[in-house]
Amino acid sequence: MNYGLVIDTVFKQILAEPSNGHVASYIPELLKVNPDCFGVALTLIDNTSYSIGDAEIKFSIQSIAKVFSLALGYKTLGDKIWERVGVEPSGTAFNSLLQLEADHGKPRNPFINSGALVICDILLSQIKDVKSELLAFIRHISDNQSIDYSPNIALSEKLNGFRNIALCNFIKSFHNIHNHPEDVLDLYFNLCSIEMTCSELSKSFLFLANDGKKTTDQSTILTSSQTKRINAVMQTCGFYDESGEFTFKVGLPGKSGVGGGILAIHPKLYSIVTWSPRLNEKGNSEKGMKFLELFTTQTKYSIF
Ligand code: GLU
Repeated sequence: MNYGLVIDTVFKQILAEPSNGHVASYIPELLKVNPDCFGVALTLIDNTSYSIGDAEIKFSIQSIAKVFSLALGYKTLGDKIWERVGVEPSGTAFNSLLQLEADHGKPRNPFINSGALVICDILLSQIKDVKSELLAFIRHISDNQSIDYSPNIALSEKLNGFRNIALCNFIKSFHNIHNHPEDVLDLYFNLCSIEMTCSELSKSFLFLANDGKKTTDQSTILTSSQTKRINAVMQTCGFYDESGEFTFKVGLPGKSGVGGGILAIHPKLYSIVTWSPRLNEKGNSEKGMKFLELFTTQTKYSIF
């Protein structure tokens, strides 16, 4: 398969198409991005990589970071995490409070905001200096010491995070948050503020295509069963209430973020990341979705 040629052809096609999407504005700091940036990076499990466009510009990875926090939580606490958070698609917006009342404070999955808050709470209870340890974990997976939180984005989220603050307190009222909500929210806002490039993200998440092992030195990040489950949750819950659509059109597990990034994994083959900040009405990157749909169509490979 000539991946370089497919990426080049599909990229040019999608670049030329107009986009009606909008940059996320509810976190004011995110509005500072150039809305027309567009980058793609692919890394195969033999570490061959291809990239095009703005693949080397750092952007706010937002909810893609929830895959890192889930991986660390799962590694640390094992299957017990599923007592606190479910594995079902929510079918509601990522920041919805609706289902929590009926579900007695147990979020449907770890990728909606409520679920990621519970994972942050678990990390706080399990790990002493969690903000540094989480960053160290991500830097270790990525073989990249430059990865960091963005204080400006974290602050912008904190000052405008009224829904997340409500969610965290609401879950606390059901006793599914054990730490102080302020500490949980601080970790959550920092997690979402991490900035990385498409190339860095695609290399970092390659372990999810490689049975939980880093491809550079074959060291174990997660067991193969944990890896299978994270990929399964990404498949069913990774795209807000557009997860079915992504599965239908692209056919790979993945995770999007409101910064305009999309990560997709082809188990045993590759990790691919797209970035284009203009979002569709469901909060997913418009060009990223279109690129990945055409990419799996032209390569004729998906998991289905
Ligand atoms: N930090 C964002 C929020 O809490 C993350 C949203 C996302 O990327 O899905 O709203």
